[in-house]
Amino acid sequence: MTLLKAVRGTRDLLPPETELWDRVESTARRVFARYNFGEIRTPVFEDTQLFARGVGEETDIVSKEMYTWEDRARAQSEKSQSLTLRPENTAGVVRAYIEHKLGETGLLQKLYYIGPQFRRERPQKGRYRQFWQIGAEAIGPPSAGSESPLRDAEVLEMLASFLDELGITGWTLVLNSVGSASDRPKYVAALRDALAPVKDQMSPDNQRRAETNPLRVLDSKDPADEAIIATLPKIADYLDDESKAHFAAVLAALDACGVKYEVNPRLVRGLDYYTRTTFEFTHGGLGAQNALLGGGRYDGLSEMLGGPKAPGIGFAMGLDRLILTLKTAEGASSGAPQFALADAFLAPLGEALNAPALELARELRRHGLRIELGDGTFRLRKSFEIGNKLAHNIILLGEDEQASGILTVKNFATGEQTKIPRGELAQTLKNS
Ligand code: ATP
Ligand code: MG
Repeated sequence: MTLLKAVRGTRDLLPPETELWDRVESTARRVFARYNFGEIRTPVFEDTQLFARGVGEETDIVSKEMYTWEDRARAQSEKSQSLTLRPENTAGVVRAYIEHKLGETGLLQKLYYIGPQFRRERPQKGRYRQFWQIGAEAIGPPSAGSESPLRDAEVLEMLASFLDELGITGWTLVLNSVGSASDRPKYVAALRDALAPVKDQMSPDNQRRAETNPLRVLDSKDPADEAIIATLPKIADYLDDESKAHFAAVLAALDACGVKYEVNPRLVRGLDYYTRTTFEFTHGGLGAQNALLGGGRYDGLSEMLGGPKAPGIGFAMGLDRLILTLKTAEGASSGAPQFALADAFLAPLGEALNAPALELARELRRHGLRIELGDGTFRLRKSFEIGNKLAHNIILLGEDEQASGILTVKNFATGEQTKIPRGELAQTLKNS
């Protein structure tokens, strides 16, 4: 029989590495809570139309990376439907915002999510087909201040604080403004004109983009096209006064709180919904896949999905890439975790002691101790061998110990063996 393996581009996360994942996730929850964000969990699959409309038909994600299938009707009352595993989570959050009429609260909605996303990309370091994102969105009616440049700056400052708290140093915040729905068409027209005479010299992907979605050419990762891209017009020269003032206010607020950044006039992002501020945090330790996270403002997305006017700003971090950075980058405060040793290995000496051992383990665990429970079929020697691999101490529970209520405990590090009354065991182990 051929052995089944995890599908290409997916992988298993095992302990102790999962402890690192847990640490990153709990740091995000803790930091975001300070900014008054609450958690949202949306379904892992959605109607394909959500992404076609929300992310954009011409994007790489929608045109070639989605896992889409036709879900057959199971009953007369149902219709078959095209479904897609979510390739990103912003569209789902905005759908939920509209569906639950969250705008009617009149308040800014601040929502974060943690979960897997799916894209059929070429797997490589830092790029998988199932990957994890931690993201957040601040979205609401304009009366709630959702368009304010202060929101952009606050989200960026939150990200800087999160990375600092995680112990990731050496990141760079790169940002740009891609203008509003009103000034973007002028720029796209200028880009089209500039691309027309040179596009034949570009990679096939960019030749196609030059026709269908010229902004995407700037997002190209093909080094061969860099020289041409450097000659193209800059979006900064096409922003209207309002967009310019908005961007200047974002930068001023960042300056005021001391968050360092670089403006990159070529930064556009791979999703169609962005307006005004777009940004990435990059990290040199990641190699070709150097973006730790990306995000931006999406003032028209809700309306594109048939909802009310609800400007917003958000980001998505690649959790896989945060982990890679923590594991490899110098300057990270801690590397990959080791297996943590249990407080004690509890060895029942004989099968008749299995049930009493489970009872004792329950008692110790209720005191918060980490206990590995052996088995009465193990020889004493085997119990010591396993215990030494997994725990700081071994507790022996034989007939005598069970009858007298005095346990024998040996500490592996010191070699010291002591007799401890059952009532004092938990406290003694805690202090040791
Ligand atoms: P990239 O330029 O690296 O392809 P992207 O522009 O497609 O990223 P977004 O769609 O904005 O990225 O997603 C936000 C973040 O999610 C990225 O910055 C990255 O950290 C992470 N990410 C995106 N695609 C993948 C993937 N296939 N595997 C792992 N992480 C990913
Ligand atoms: Mg991508």
